[in-house]
Amino acid sequence: MIKNSPVEEISFEGYSFYLKRDDLLHPDFSGNKARKFYYFLENDFPDIKKIISYGSAQSNAMYSLSVLAKMRGWEFEYFVDHLADYLRDNLHGNYKTALENGMKLTVGSLKSTEAFDIDTLFIEEGGRQKEAEYGIKLLAQEIIEWQKENKLDELNIFLPSGTGTTALFLQKHLPNNTVYTNPCVGDAAYLKKQFFELEEDEKTHPTILSLEKKHHFGKLYRENYKIWLKLQQQTGVVFDLLYDPLGWRTLTAHPEVLHKPILYIHQGGVLGNESMLPRYERKYGM
Ligand SMILES: *Cc1c(COP(=O)(O)O)cnc(C)c1O
Repeated sequence: MIKNSPVEEISFEGYSFYLKRDDLLHPDFSGNKARKFYYFLENDFPDIKKIISYGSAQSNAMYSLSVLAKMRGWEFEYFVDHLADYLRDNLHGNYKTALENGMKLTVGSLKSTEAFDIDTLFIEEGGRQKEAEYGIKLLAQEIIEWQKENKLDELNIFLPSGTGTTALFLQKHLPNNTVYTNPCVGDAAYLKKQFFELEEDEKTHPTILSLEKKHHFGKLYRENYKIWLKLQQQTGVVFDLLYDPLGWRTLTAHPEVLHKPILYIHQGGVLGNESMLPRYERKYGM
């Protein structure tokens, strides 16, 4: 149902990169959340009538689940701990579109240990679950095919991590490449722990790169905004404002990774910029 995403060549700060445009996978169902939830799009679930999940009210996973539910004709109920007044009064971004797709939002907590009805599919926050492997394996296969066609015997892969699910399964299915990633939520130790929760065999874990300075997820940083603007100026590509700025900052701070051809995975999330960009513009100007 979703087609191969294209690979482009870009240059940034004097380096050349290949860019896997997973943000262009499908008009509504794209990025790494589409890969992670592909299993639930493609397979038969005769008993399922409803998806339940939880997380933040602006999450990319929430948005993609609303699309999945709509495509499958399922209900979608989503739990948030907290809904900001500003967002409730000024609908925008992932939250607005998810509501338009029929999401039912509940402010309150949901325990993943709760027992659900058999017609209910429970999805972990951010799609951190083993079913994600199905779609990410397909991404790996697309990369292998493209790599062969272009005779790129040596290739490094880079993508920024949240839960680390995408990077982990990508490395597992690309045993001949090194997958590099950086933590955006928490530090390297946290990300390593996330890898272990999905895969005990450390040999198939991605290689973690980090910046020295501590970083808080979702907070505004001048350096993040600056590199995001620069990326747009130099490459013409719009990246997401939560993960990609830190990813590019980390990658360009490790030139040793750049001596082989490098494929950066654009994991989508651009709709989420509708909430991040006005915050950046208010803080630092245009
Ligand atoms: C969710 C997301 C990530 C993080 O993916 P994980 O599999 O949780 O590591 C990175 N970039 C974007 C744009 C995302 O939406």
